[in-house]
Amino acid sequence: MTAVVTGGAGFVGSHLCEALLADGREVVCVDNFSSGRDANLDAFRDHEAFSVVHADVRDLEPDDLPDADRVYHLASRASPADFVSQAIDIGVTNTEGTRRVLDYAREADARVVYASTSEVYGDPEVHPQPETYTGNVNIRGPRACYDESKRFGEALTVAYEQSYGLDVRTARIFNTYGPRMRLDDGRVVPNFVTQALAGEPLTVYGDGGQTRSFCYVDDTVAGLRALMDAEGLGGDVVNVGSDVETSIADLAERVNERCGGAGVVYHSVPEDDPRRRCPDLTKARQVLGWEPSVSLDDGLDRTIDALRGGRGGSRGGGDV
Ligand code: NAD
Ligand code: UDP
Repeated sequence: MTAVVTGGAGFVGSHLCEALLADGREVVCVDNFSSGRDANLDAFRDHEAFSVVHADVRDLEPDDLPDADRVYHLASRASPADFVSQAIDIGVTNTEGTRRVLDYAREADARVVYASTSEVYGDPEVHPQPETYTGNVNIRGPRACYDESKRFGEALTVAYEQSYGLDVRTARIFNTYGPRMRLDDGRVVPNFVTQALAGEPLTVYGDGGQTRSFCYVDDTVAGLRALMDAEGLGGDVVNVGSDVETSIADLAERVNERCGGAGVVYHSVPEDDPRRRCPDLTKARQVLGWEPSVSLDDGLDRTIDALRGGRGGSRGGGDV
């Protein structure tokens, strides 16, 4: 069985490639290495069942890729730090890029998992968020190019399922962390861990009372694979993440405890920063028989350990 993984050189995608290879799949990674890194492939680059196609999904033609049975479509920058500076790149990747990936899957007659995001819920007014919640997104705000293009990507998957019978499933992924996150991508876990290990205070935006539900990357990968492998879910959508809601202040405390950090420093909160976020995992448990298993404490230990030991996937050992 052959799986194409778009965005396979990124944080989540590289762990997914590695897990699929470990299970005996042929894996084709498609990436333009914009936010992904060659070093993320170090652990399995020489595997005989692994290959890389250096391509941008915005220009993808079906003939660019070999035949496959499964397509995991993860290609998209995902860091809020890029949402403004790379807005057009992100918007077009998630719309035109997604169209091209779906066209490839149609030609190959492959099953697809589309990586959507909890950001489609915006700053939610419903807690926890079930898949039926339609969200509260600012269409003109600083996160819009990401949020709205992921929402349109979902609409496109529904259209392909309805128009062509393409078997495409959508995962709404919630905040995921772990080894191989880019240290400079501005997300909270790499920021805090880098700062704490450098003996600097952790930059808490706002009062730290806002929440996220942090899922260790191995659990997210298992959720994506369960969604792909389940029978009869064509056209459906499932939340994938942790349902343990944690405040940013609590996260800062846990990181400081582990790294002997120098306290916290408060910065202003970014515009449109969601105040609370937590998935309702009822559907994931029911239809996938999946739920996360790594606690935040264990996941932070593993992530910090990877950074300290230089086993984070970067050649220089500098990245988580
Ligand atoms: P990442 O930036 O580490 O990985 C994205 C990968 O896609 C990179 O390797 C990048 O080079 C590649 N890419 C970007 N644009 C491309 C293009 N036009 N053509 C080809 N390749 C392209 O991000 P990640 O955290 O691993 O996220 C992976 C996916 O999961 C994204 O679709 C993201 O929206 C989704 N997601 C991630 C999280 C999270 O917490 N990490 C949460 C929700 C959703
Ligand atoms: N955050 C923070 N300090 C940082 C980086 C982020 O307090 O150095 C906060 C941010 O304001 C948000 C939360 O942590 O409330 C998660 O931010 P991240 O960028 O990791 O993900 P997202 O906002 O997309 O959920």
